[in-house]
This record gives sequence, structure tokens and C-alpha cells, in this order.
Amino acid sequence: MAICKACGRDIAADMMFCPYCGTKRTLDEAGKPVEDIPEQKIGVIPYVQGQGRLGGTWTIIVSDRRLIFAKALATDEKTETDPKGVGLGLLSKRGPDSGCGLTYAQRYQEMTPGEALKESPDNFQVDVGDVVLASMSQDAEVRYGMRMRLKEGELLFSMPQQHDHRDHLRKVLGDRLTW
Ligand SMILES: [Zn+2]
Repeated sequence: MAICKACGRDIAADMMFCPYCGTKRTLDEAGKPVEDIPEQKIGVIPYVQGQGRLGGTWTIIVSDRRLIFAKALATDEKTETDPKGVGLGLLSKRGPDSGCGLTYAQRYQEMTPGEALKESPDNFQVDVGDVVLASMSQDAEVRYGMRMRLKEGELLFSMPQQHDHRDHLRKVLGDRLTW
């Protein structure tokens, strides 16, 4: 597996062009694609509550090139018996009892960004390069509010007020993260 530098998606290591965005990959002297620098996971932001498209509870997996928005899976104790909520990727292979006692947020924490993306059809990614501006605020309920403006559209959500969560985003967004 490799990752397209342009769009951040998982692609086969021997592909000369990304099948999603068409970007040509760097080739070595023998004409083979050079293995991309591995994606680096920065951190996980659990218990994200969103509005609109982001309704419900999510976990954000932050890497150096993309933000994976992963929908809460019904794997918390209360809903452990719901077979629909088990996940499509890693979790379904391991069965509904996998990771018993862990919350969905902790399970996402153990996955790579690519694995987390595949876990539910609701999950989606935002390329770090597509974030225009991310404005954070602090509300009375001790949560950070976030208005994330993208090249197309915007995402509104809130997250627990923890400095390391904010630092994960600052690490990848730099000056685009404002207060
Ligand atoms: Zn691509």
C-alpha cells in the first residue's frame, strides 16, 4: 500500500498514476514508483459533535496529510449487540466481540488513518491542503467550537476542550488555525 501525495488516498504501491486523482507518481531509474514517505499519524480527537453533514458523534484521526472524520460505531457497551454498528473493515473481520471494553474512539485510535476511513461508509476525509481556515472558539460548556472552512463548503463541530486536541490540529494546519 502507498498513499497518493496529491489526494491522500490509499493506492497500490506499484501504480504509476493515482486512480482517484490521476496524479503521476515519482518513478525511479527503473521506471518503478518510488515508495512515498509513510503517512504520519499525529493524534486522535474523540467525542466530536457536529452539525449538518456532521450530525452525531465522530472521531477525527489527524495525520500529516489528512483529517479522517470517523463516525461513532455502535460498539459502546450500550449498543454492543447492534450488528450493524460493528464496522466494515478491521472490526468486522475481528467480529463483534473485538476490543470489548474499548469505546469506539479507543478502537479508532488503534487503527491507521486508512483503516479508520474504511470502517464505515459514513467516514470521509478532508485533505489538509483543502482546509482554508479553521476558527476555534471556546463555549460555556467547556468545549471548543470549530468552524472549518474548506475549499468547498465548511464543517461545524465541537470537541472536548483539551489542549492536546487543539495541538494536533495546529501541527497540521499551522497559521490556518485561528482563535
Ligand atoms: Zn491521488
